[in-house]
Amino acid sequence: MTATPTAGVPQERRLVTAIPGPKSAELLARKQAAVADGIGVTLPVFTARASGGILEDVDGNRLIDFGSGIAVTSVGNSAEAVVRRATRQLADFTHTCFMVTPYEGYVEVAEALAELTPGDHAKKSALFNSGAEAVENAVKIARAYTKRPAVIVFDHGYHGRTNLTMALTSKNMPYKNGFGPFAPEVYRVPVAYGYRWPTGPENAGPEAAAQAIDQITKQVGAENVAAIIIEPVLGEGGFIEPAKGFLPAIQKFANDNGIVFVADEIQSGFCRTGQWFASEDEGLVPDLITTAKGIAGGLPLAAVTGRAEIMDAAHAGGLGGTYGGNPVACAAALGSIETMKELDLNAAAKRIEEVMKSRLGAMQEKFPAIGDIRGRGAMIAVELVKDPESKEPDAALAGALAKACHAEGLIVLTCGTYGNVLRFLPPLVIDENLLNEGLDIIEAAFAAQV
Ligand SMILES: *Cc1c(COP(=O)(O)O)cnc(C)c1O
Repeated sequence: MTATPTAGVPQERRLVTAIPGPKSAELLARKQAAVADGIGVTLPVFTARASGGILEDVDGNRLIDFGSGIAVTSVGNSAEAVVRRATRQLADFTHTCFMVTPYEGYVEVAEALAELTPGDHAKKSALFNSGAEAVENAVKIARAYTKRPAVIVFDHGYHGRTNLTMALTSKNMPYKNGFGPFAPEVYRVPVAYGYRWPTGPENAGPEAAAQAIDQITKQVGAENVAAIIIEPVLGEGGFIEPAKGFLPAIQKFANDNGIVFVADEIQSGFCRTGQWFASEDEGLVPDLITTAKGIAGGLPLAAVTGRAEIMDAAHAGGLGGTYGGNPVACAAALGSIETMKELDLNAAAKRIEEVMKSRLGAMQEKFPAIGDIRGRGAMIAVELVKDPESKEPDAALAGALAKACHAEGLIVLTCGTYGNVLRFLPPLVIDENLLNEGLDIIEAAFAAQV
C-alpha cells in the first residue's frame, strides 16, 4: 500500500473481552437512559481512541475499521496534519462567524474546492456544517438561479435527514417513516441499477435514462425543473454505480434544458472512489457539487461548490449559518487535503479496490449468496440474495454477517433499499495486512452462515 497510517493506536486487531465488553455495556446502559432511542447504534462498543485502520474501545479491544465512521475518516482518525492544523487553529481562535468577521481558512478551503472539483470553469463555494445542509443549500441556489420550483431525484437516492432532504431521500424506513409531511415539488425517477434492471445491466444505462427523461418531461415539465440531484455512486441506497451512459445522458438533458445538474458527492468524494470525485469516472462536469463526510478528517464541514454564476445567484445574506465553515473544521479540511495529496490516497483507494474485488470475487465462487460485487476504490459492497437466479434480497443474511464480523472485531456496515448490502469503507490509509485480515473475517463469516 502506498499510504502509511500515522502513529497512534498499534495497527493490530486484538480481542481481550467479548464484543461489546463490560465497560461498553455499562456505557450502553447509560446511553439508553440518557440518549433518545431515535439515535440508534450499529455496534455498541464505545471508542477510546482510533488511528489508521484500528479503533480501540474502552475495554481495550482493537477493532479493524471497515466503516470510517461512514466514509468520513478517509485520512484515518486523528491524522497528523488534521491534528496539527486544527490544534493550532484551536489555540488561535475557535469562532467568529464567517459572516461577521471572516478568516483565511474558509477562503483557502473554497480555493481548494475550486481546484479539486471537476471542470476548469470559474467556481465558487459556500461552506456548511453537514451534508444535508449542503444539499438543502444546493436546492436554494438552483432555485434562485433558475427561478423554477421542481427538484428531480432518483430511486435509491439518499440525501439526508432534514425535512427537505427527507423528501429527496428514497427509502422510508428508517429515514422518513412517521416524519412527514415532506417538502413539496420533489419528483423521483428511475436510476440505472444494473444488477436489478429487468433487461440486464448492458441495457440499464440508456433505458433508465430514457425512462427518467420521459417521466421528467411528461410529469413535471423540464421548464419547471430547477435541479436534478444524483449521487454518482449511490451510497445508502446500496453502493449502486449507475450503469454506463446513464449519468452523461442525464447531465446532457439537464444542460439542454437549463436545469442545474447537482452531483451529491458527500459519500463518494475526496478520494473515496480512487479519484478526487466519482463524477470524473464518466467525465461529468456537474454545475454544483455537494461535499461533506471525507472533507475534514472527522470535523463537521460541508460545501456546495459550482459555477460562479450559479453560486452567485443567491442574494447577499441569503446563504450561510452561524457555524458554517467553522475555522477549526476548515483547518482540519486543509489538513485532510494535504494528507490526501501527500500520501496519494487516490492510488491507495485503487489498491484497496484491487485487493477487495479479487478476494470477494473468489468468495463469490464459493458463496452464491453473493449476487453482486460492486463499487469503486474504497467504496465496495456485496449484494446478498437468497438465490442468484431470482435475486430475492437477503437482508437477514446481511444482518447476520455484519453481526458475526462485529463479534470478531471487524466494523462493517450494511445498506441498500432492501437492507441486503454489506458495504466496506475502510480508511484509505489502512495497512494492507489489516485489509486482508478483515477480508479473512468476512470469508469466515460467510463460511459459518451459508
Ligand atoms: C451522508 C450523506 C448525506 C447527508 O450528510 P449528513 O452529514 O449526514 O447530513 C447526503 N448525501 C449523501 C450522498 C450522503 O452519503
